[in-house]
Amino acid sequence: MTLRIAIVGAGPSGLYATDALNSAGHHVDVIERLPVPFGLVRYGVAPDHYSIRSVRGTLEKVLLEPNVRLLAGVEVGRDVSVDELLAAYDGVVLTYGASRDRLLQIPGEDLPGSLAATDLVAWYCGHPDADRAAVESALSAATSVVVVGVGNVSVDVTRVLTAPADRLERTDMPQHVLDILESSGIRDVHVLGRRSPAQATWTTKELRELGEIDGIDVVVEPADFELEPVVVGLMESDRVVARNVEVMRGWIDNEPAEGNRHIHLHFHSRPAEITGTDRVSGVVVERTALDESGAARGTGETYEIEAQLIVRSVGYRGMPLAGVPFDASRHVVPNADGRVLGEDGVPIPGLYVAGWIKRGPTGIIGTNKKDAGATVASLLADRVDIAPRGGDGVFALLLERGITPIHIDGWQAVDAAERALGQAQGRDRTTIHEHDSLRAAASGVE
Ligand SMILES: Cc1cc2nc3c(=O)[nH]c(=O)nc-3n(C[C@H](O)[C@H](O)[C@H](O)COP(=O)(O)OP(=O)(O)OC[C@H]3O[C@@H](n4cnc5c(N)ncnc54)[C@H](O)[C@@H]3O)c2cc1C
Repeated sequence: MTLRIAIVGAGPSGLYATDALNSAGHHVDVIERLPVPFGLVRYGVAPDHYSIRSVRGTLEKVLLEPNVRLLAGVEVGRDVSVDELLAAYDGVVLTYGASRDRLLQIPGEDLPGSLAATDLVAWYCGHPDADRAAVESALSAATSVVVVGVGNVSVDVTRVLTAPADRLERTDMPQHVLDILESSGIRDVHVLGRRSPAQATWTTKELRELGEIDGIDVVVEPADFELEPVVVGLMESDRVVARNVEVMRGWIDNEPAEGNRHIHLHFHSRPAEITGTDRVSGVVVERTALDESGAARGTGETYEIEAQLIVRSVGYRGMPLAGVPFDASRHVVPNADGRVLGEDGVPIPGLYVAGWIKRGPTGIIGTNKKDAGATVASLLADRVDIAPRGGDGVFALLLERGITPIHIDGWQAVDAAERALGQAQGRDRTTIHEHDSLRAAASGVE
């Protein structure tokens, strides 16, 4: 029995689910909002992390399978509803990700010059929805930057903002991004972590890399390394934590060189207010102390950092999709083993979920493979006895509505155009960033 399944979102979790379904002999339509596939592998993973971005090659192979069809440039909830998908397919798997930022909820957050990491990452990766004007205006005025948060996205953002031109010029960033980063006046980036150095969630490799880039000095406060007993316990029980602290301790004696860019790591520090009248001029930071459980509590003591740009990197969150239940406290689609649960707590027949919108924004790309595999196992177990609907999914319906989906050959045309553009600029590839240009490249009209 061959089923026809719709996948909503062509990021890693959608394509891993597709791979599992295709391997089991089923037909899959992968519906993607953007004109191009790959989700955060294209629009999140840092452009200078070549080996991680190369997972795109593996994901692309899935889309080349004969029983898999890419329908890109189609937004579920706008161009076609989830109910219409449920009526046209033998199963629907939601894998639409969780790529909105979380808010700090402090005064001044809305001032020009205060950006979410999502905005900055979208801009430097060449996402067609990136707000170029907001990001470029914030960057043009910046000599000092505050990055709030101590996870891997904050390391990426900090590295991209401080890296010398020769590190970035081989990447596939759009040319205007490279030009702006190259001429940026940024000298100092202050990274704020509200708890101790041992509680930062970055991976050691990414952290260590910060200290290895020519032209960058990392500066730490020795007092932050007088560790509380609760933190020493953490280091003893977790080797990654111990290694991270060791890497940062190695920077205690760093003498910042004149002419270099400086990254200042501040722990036990949380932003209390973003200051400025018509745009950001600084951040008031409150010192914190840890309680016995390791949580940060404000001490009332404050200090100020002058900054023209604030990047809030405190996590991602999912958003509701029309017609689908949503857990507004956890920002995920409620589910049991990937089966979407209705308001009554009972699975909705045929509707499944995988990836970040199922479990929240955690784990690495590979985590989505196992997660998508588990969801597909639930789907196949449930759908074993159904009579397949047949038909051609929602393709005809989309055409009727004047929507022409982009297929894999459209992506291949974009791929070729990006390689050609890159080669003309002396690199492997340059990302095409505007919606219209992507669509034009996909249809072979460059
Ligand atoms: C800045 C950043 C850097 C990262 N770096 C790394 C790294 O170095 N290494 C690593 O292992 N992991 C990294 N990750 C994590 C990794 O990117 C995620 O684990 C992974 O992308 C999650 O996959 P997903 O498919 O659930 O979501 P996504 O990758 O977000 O894919 C969701 C897809 O759904 C589409 N979509 C959304 N709404 C709709 C709709 N209504 N209709 C149709 N399509 C829709 C989106 O356009 C997108 O293509 C990073 C994440 C971020 C944010």
